[in-house]
Amino acid sequence: MNSEKTDTLSEGLWDRARTICINMMQGDSKRSRAERNFSMIQSVSFKDNTFLILALNNLTAEMLEREYADDIKKSLLLAGADPSVRLEFSFDEKSKPSIVVPKSTTGGEKTKTGRIQTFISTMPLKEYYTFDEFVEGPSNSYVLAAAKGVASNPGKKAMNPLFIHGGTGLGKTHIMQAIGNEVRRRNPMAAVCYLTAEAFMNEYVNSMTNNNIQSFRDRYRKIDILLIDDIQFITINMKNFQEEFFNTFNALTNADKQIVITSDVPPKDLPGIEERLISRFEGGMLQEIESPAYETRLAILKKKSEGMQPEVSDETLKFIAQNIKSHVRAIEGALSKVNIFANREPNVLLTNEMLSYILRDFIEKEKTRKKLTIEEVQNCVCRKYGVTIAQILSPERTQSIVTPRQLAMFISRKFTIGGLQEIAKKFDKSHATIIHGVKNISKRLDVEPDLKLTLEEILDELGTSMNEVIN
Ligand code: ADP
Ligand code: MG
Repeated sequence: MNSEKTDTLSEGLWDRARTICINMMQGDSKRSRAERNFSMIQSVSFKDNTFLILALNNLTAEMLEREYADDIKKSLLLAGADPSVRLEFSFDEKSKPSIVVPKSTTGGEKTKTGRIQTFISTMPLKEYYTFDEFVEGPSNSYVLAAAKGVASNPGKKAMNPLFIHGGTGLGKTHIMQAIGNEVRRRNPMAAVCYLTAEAFMNEYVNSMTNNNIQSFRDRYRKIDILLIDDIQFITINMKNFQEEFFNTFNALTNADKQIVITSDVPPKDLPGIEERLISRFEGGMLQEIESPAYETRLAILKKKSEGMQPEVSDETLKFIAQNIKSHVRAIEGALSKVNIFANREPNVLLTNEMLSYILRDFIEKEKTRKKLTIEEVQNCVCRKYGVTIAQILSPERTQSIVTPRQLAMFISRKFTIGGLQEIAKKFDKSHATIIHGVKNISKRLDVEPDLKLTLEEILDELGTSMNEVIN
């Protein structure tokens, strides 16, 4: 992030607030959405007690203000900001992301210097998502080796595409952006394009609406390295998009241009993706990133705590590594919580009891994770609705069955460690059906207080609550 105007103190404050804000989001989808949206922030500066948040364009600035102003304010306070701190959202026309395409490529606009320029809506890469900042361990060493290989030698058939899959918060986005940063470092002229699958789809829809599909094609076929994050969010029924993506994919790989894709499931389990795309995704290098074991978690914590004030003791780091196991994002969240506490209460000794207290929310989540099984969820929901497990597993579509079925899917997804794959198996349904069911309940919960109440009662019976969402 470009924060030239931000002094180090407020920069640290902003970074902490950002982490808190994202961690505060309830549930996996809201959290990843916030993360994507936050990555559209161009720069943050601090002056006259006001944080000025600049986005790519006015629409994004408005969206950020509408959706996150309150949460950001809260997080800034939690991060230690003065309660009188103000927020302003605006956009920065000048900082439109641009990519200079090498001379050899055709098309685009000639600038005064004669260099061919084209603008590609790449999302900004975080500067600190580098290989140096990524801690290697047995859970990620193969992925890391493949990613480094791709960054130093992009476009090789055996590694194209590089498809990285694994659970949330395990470092997929970090590694993907590290590839982008490394390629740019080696060759500042390389056209690196990083986009979430959602943003990529939006680009496509915009060009369709503006009758400008040709320019979409031209733009994307000039890229040297295309990084598509979170491919699982590609909308199932946008068939034309898949066709266009397929063609872009072929054009790029035929020209030995590198493609990297991340996903939370392996290609074959992607909901609603055409067979031919799946086989393309599987045609290069497939790598899974796994949860880090204790030693790696501790090493990550050591790295992340470097330079923190006050210094974090080894005992504290060990405590966090022992107690927070689910994913790296939670580990970071726990560390930042301890750091905030240590700043606020410099005289309190961080004993294990104290740490258990400070991190009680995180620790509770870890416990729920271990405890709850999909079967328990199914049984509890069935009891509540007076339906049978067989009905829930059946294809029957009457509303009196659909609601408990989808609610059970929702709870399984949010409160058990069962990944999509396991949930799909236990419900005898496809991944797409599970994703659809979870989304449907999320939407309904916003507008149906009765459903929300029932959910809360079920969670209560299961010994958990909405505050303890783990996915
Ligand atoms: P994902 O995209 O898989 O959900 P991210 O790449 O967003 O996960 O990672 C979540 C956070 O964890 C990021 O801040 C990232 O820097 C950090 N992280 C994950 N794995 C590692 C690692 N091995 N070393 C250092 N940081 C890591
Ligand atoms: Mg990610």
